Amino acid sequence: MASDLTPISQLGEFGLIDRITAKFSLRHAQVAKGIGDDAAVVRSGEGKVQVFTSDMLLENVHFDLGYAPLRHLGFKAVAVNLSDIYAMNALPYGVTISLGLSNRFPVEAVEELYAGVALACEKYQVDLLGGDTTSSQQGLVISVTAFGQALEDEIVYRKGAKANDLICVTGDLGAAYAGLLVLEREKVTFKDRPDEQPDLTDYDYVIGRQLKPDARGDVILRLRELGVQPTSMMDISDGLASELNHLCRQSKTGAIIYANKIPIDHQTVSVGEEFELGPTTFALNGGEDYELIFTVPLSDYDKIKSENGLHIIGRMTDDAKQIQLTLDSGEVADINAQGWDHFEKGEE
Ligand code: ADP
Ligand code: MG
Repeated sequence: MASDLTPISQLGEFGLIDRITAKFSLRHAQVAKGIGDDAAVVRSGEGKVQVFTSDMLLENVHFDLGYAPLRHLGFKAVAVNLSDIYAMNALPYGVTISLGLSNRFPVEAVEELYAGVALACEKYQVDLLGGDTTSSQQGLVISVTAFGQALEDEIVYRKGAKANDLICVTGDLGAAYAGLLVLEREKVTFKDRPDEQPDLTDYDYVIGRQLKPDARGDVILRLRELGVQPTSMMDISDGLASELNHLCRQSKTGAIIYANKIPIDHQTVSVGEEFELGPTTFALNGGEDYELIFTVPLSDYDKIKSENGLHIIGRMTDDAKQIQLTLDSGEVADINAQGWDHFEKGEE
């Protein structure tokens, strides 16, 4: 590359988005939120809003058909988009799906992909609204846009957290990355010994989390039942560290979280041991959990304290420069956003 041109890796994914979007301002007063949250929010009258988000999955970047069944992939492509709708505290009602297909894919393969799409549409009660289909020179491209709705007052942005709010996460973290490590390892082994079918029963949970993630609409409905409206929220797609940094930056808060409060499944712990990596690292820096992270005021503690699958991992602070992790030893470490960044920055 000519030396006066800038490699994308120098800016990173978020730096690039900032750079290309900085020159755009909003023309329409009904846009309540454009770029910068899990989804855009557009007022549609009578206190209601429409919520939109897009995500693209590329073969050999986001998935490997060597181990990802097409049916799972179709399900996942929808679920990861709906996750961003739920992350706004909105409820989805539709998706559009655009495909780039190389001539390597027969009709039956596309049908299999759409069997997964249909499963997701059924599970999350959304309609397939349309899309686009084109040929691709190489590989499979799946781009999904999801549509949701809510009352404007119900919408929860990344920016609303206050000092002393409790930081909560749902489910367990790090498993999808653990699953990816196992699948990648088996892929290599399988190439060397194609006749041996690997026995993956010990890894069923983490592999399932990688191949077929669930979007946590159930949590959104449950919080409504409990009468809890989070002050800030996003979904955990790039790792806890990255998401906590986003919430803090947009809310102008700091945070302190506790390693021993981060929910991690025992299978994730054993994969961590096999790969000689701490499971906390999986939770902080792994990706694709599609759980929710949100904050609630201290006064909501009683409403959520005994809720299954909801974990209070720390609290927001008023020191905006400090995002900290307290380790089991009592030591305190800074957490910077080393989540999944698609254009990793090199050493400076
Ligand atoms: P998420 O991880 O929740 O899907 P992203 O990190 O992908 O969110 O995107 C962050 C924000 O940047 C979103 O508001 C998204 O719509 C916006 N964005 C991402 N890529 C582009 C792009 N190429 N052009 C315009 N906006 C973009
Ligand atoms: Mg998101």
